[in-house]
Amino acid sequence: MGGYPAAIRASQLGLKVALIEQDKLGGTCLHIGCIPTKALLESSELYHRVSARGAEFGIGADKVTYDYPKIATRRDAVVNQLYKGVQFLMKKNKVEVIAGNGRLKDRNTVSVGATQVKAPQLIVATGSVVKGLPGIEFDGEFIVSSDNATLANKVPESIVIIGAGAVGVEFATLYNQLGVKVTLLEALDRLVPLEDEDVSKEMLSAFKKAGIDCRVGVRVKGAKKARDGVSVDTEQGEVWARQLLVAVGRAPRSKDIGLEQVGVTLHPNGFIKVDEWMRTSAEGIHAIGDVIGGYLLAHAASHEGIVAAEDIAGQRLAPMEQELVTRCTYSHPQIASVGLSEKEARDAGHEVKVGKFPFTALGRAIIVGETAGFAKMVADAKTGRLLGAHIVGPNATELIAEPALTQLFQGDAWELGRNIHPHPTLSEAVMEAAMAVDGHAIHI
Ligand code: NAD
Repeated sequence: MGGYPAAIRASQLGLKVALIEQDKLGGTCLHIGCIPTKALLESSELYHRVSARGAEFGIGADKVTYDYPKIATRRDAVVNQLYKGVQFLMKKNKVEVIAGNGRLKDRNTVSVGATQVKAPQLIVATGSVVKGLPGIEFDGEFIVSSDNATLANKVPESIVIIGAGAVGVEFATLYNQLGVKVTLLEALDRLVPLEDEDVSKEMLSAFKKAGIDCRVGVRVKGAKKARDGVSVDTEQGEVWARQLLVAVGRAPRSKDIGLEQVGVTLHPNGFIKVDEWMRTSAEGIHAIGDVIGGYLLAHAASHEGIVAAEDIAGQRLAPMEQELVTRCTYSHPQIASVGLSEKEARDAGHEVKVGKFPFTALGRAIIVGETAGFAKMVADAKTGRLLGAHIVGPNATELIAEPALTQLFQGDAWELGRNIHPHPTLSEAVMEAAMAVDGHAIHI
């Protein structure tokens, strides 16, 4: 995902740009990540809302059904429309697209088959691939990765998901909303372990209420095909389902592209080391996106691409700040966060004050019928500066942009609370939580 925005920004800045792509422009995000999975979730959400909750809203919905192949057709149409858009943008910005597998020969040369592409500055944006678990082989049918699950044209009757990170909870939501029996296994002691602890608690409660069998602190020992499904062996006993989805993270695509030979230093886990201007250890080579690690998120990759292009063009505006990357998970309820969790803020030595506002107390959330969750603001007790924001609930992934802007502007919690928010909207949860930092929330 990072490569084409970098190409566009470099072109805008007057540079001559070539983009080498072995597969399709747009990368994981567009073809087997963010876009197709969110398109699937849109269908499951609609089906679930009408079938399970229609009556509550006065809608007669006794015979609502879904047709997964049609859901998959829409998924593909969404991807194709956006893919055409990216191809158009390359033409519009006069980016030369070279099809093929690129390999660094020296610091100014990439070989693509028999062709040598030369440039004084290179950006590596090769992304990442799904990781498996030792002893558990993907077969694409019974034991699947998120790539397989995203592109599938049917859903199983039951599924075990290993890993309750972003991928695990999003697929748990998709299948649960479509009536598939879901068992979610997480090795650590909470769901979404990278999020604020209060968010993990809320997710566990919401998922249990939705009927997802969540098991935390589970150590998986192995898995094998059994009884027309998969038997997962854990230290706590056997779990069986028709299908197993392994969602335990991603690994960088940094092997066999000539990085070491041109002097690009990697971290021990294979991600490329870069500075805040996306410069690698090799003069003239920048790297962006999943291949550098940190948050493996499309919007981070895209922003890193812009920073790299500006650095190359000698027009530094602002460096990449990982703390300003918003994290968004499109589960039900949605999760979004930016900056430090309450614990991280305390561990970093801040005296902390926290404001929290539940969606149950918000008019718009009651109208929408989505009252699970809360907005939580973490601020420095001495300065009032907003250090982090954590939202779990309806439209969390949209709502997080505002606290993120506050953090970009180095704003205080009270300023966010003082911003006059439209009523009735879900965004008022952010305002109320910000006001709650100083005990001034109106509706709690
Ligand atoms: P992840 O690292 O976020 O989560 C993996 C989870 O699996 C962790 O909670 C980990 O504790 C658990 N785990 C690891 N080994 C285990 C085992 N043996 N048994 C049980 N649990 C185990 O990885 P992911 O969810 O696969 O996502 C991959 C990357 O893609 C992440 O960086 C994620 O942020 C990104 N992504 C983002 C989104 C989004 O932003 N909406 C969606 C999908 C993926």
